Amino acid sequence: MKELIGLSKEELEAEVINLGEKPFRAKQIWQWIYFQGVKSFEEMTNLSKDLRQKLANSFTITRPKVITEQISKDKTHKRLLEFTDGERVEMVYIPEEDRGAVCLSTQVGCAMGCKFCHTGSQKLTRNLTAAEIVGQFMVARDAYHEWPSPTHETRYLSNIVVMGMGEPLQNLENVAKALNILTAGDGIAISRRRITMSTSGIAPQIVPALKATGVRLAVSLHAPNNELRSQIMPINKRYPIEKVLEACKSYQSDDGSRYITFEYLMLKDFNDTPECAKELIALMKKYSLRALFNLIPFNPWPGCSFEPSLPEKVKAFSQMLEKAGFAAPIRVARGQDILAACGQLKSKTTLPKSS
Ligand code: SAH
Ligand code: SF4
Repeated sequence: MKELIGLSKEELEAEVINLGEKPFRAKQIWQWIYFQGVKSFEEMTNLSKDLRQKLANSFTITRPKVITEQISKDKTHKRLLEFTDGERVEMVYIPEEDRGAVCLSTQVGCAMGCKFCHTGSQKLTRNLTAAEIVGQFMVARDAYHEWPSPTHETRYLSNIVVMGMGEPLQNLENVAKALNILTAGDGIAISRRRITMSTSGIAPQIVPALKATGVRLAVSLHAPNNELRSQIMPINKRYPIEKVLEACKSYQSDDGSRYITFEYLMLKDFNDTPECAKELIALMKKYSLRALFNLIPFNPWPGCSFEPSLPEKVKAFSQMLEKAGFAAPIRVARGQDILAACGQLKSKTTLPKSS
């Protein structure tokens, strides 16, 4: 049995032709899966009974299984999902007033080992497939009853952030394939402008990633110099700040209209001083990037020695950046009580797998 979710349009068409059917049938199947959100071939009523049977004999349309759910006081909704091999990741829905974002994972665990990140404390098990990445979003659509794909602007699922477990640029092929499916106009149809992909800074992959996906870029910077950054992000030794910012620069020279978001985690007495803010401003000016900041409150977790910066420190830091001409909003911490901050996913202890 072959999984249909996660195939590109071309691959789906090839499968259909293989069955001896006309290519336009692939379009119909695509729309059933990604526009109507059906879960079985039975429901594809404009296909002959015969063809539906043929499809059911050879293919599957599988969603990841929801194992547990947790809702935070602020309505952030975390779901632990299981794939067919028993591996698990989390998918988080973050509601906002008239819309909401789905935070998708790209790997089981993460090899980057950032010191402040709960996912980073778990080794990389494997990359997710395109089907598994798209499947996370489809589970969210199921849960909020947003099939057929809505076209109006006010909808529960309006945005995607690729900020869950894993480093997306280490699984670029599958991530790009998944994003192409999620953005296809005759299916799930989330606009590329409403998708942000966050990377810890795999410098040589930045330009290829944006060429392959066309989505917005966020870079987890978290420190104004290499000395500090290397202490919390081991990847900085391989791709220091200069390499990352040069890659950002060449991305913007291709398309100057695009802003890059720099995420900056506020860690108490580590990177939150006025000196750090000054250094950060100088760094940004040196590369003259079109940048904005996102100051992230640190979400503590058991076993991690960092503490969140004091609110007045965060405010002062933000004001310094804004005075220098950079937008620097302070991100509202979401889902803290259920450890659901993006980049901080997976349950407190790894749950036993169902056998
Ligand atoms: N691997 C990618 C995307 C996933 S992490 C990346 O690192 O960018 C998404 C974001 O969550 C990153 O900016 C990451 O630094 C941040 N993050 C990780 N641990 C966190 C924590 N404990 N509290 C708040 N944000 C955290
Ligand atoms: Fe991986 Fe991102 Fe966590 Fe670093 S912050 S360990 S890159 S998921």
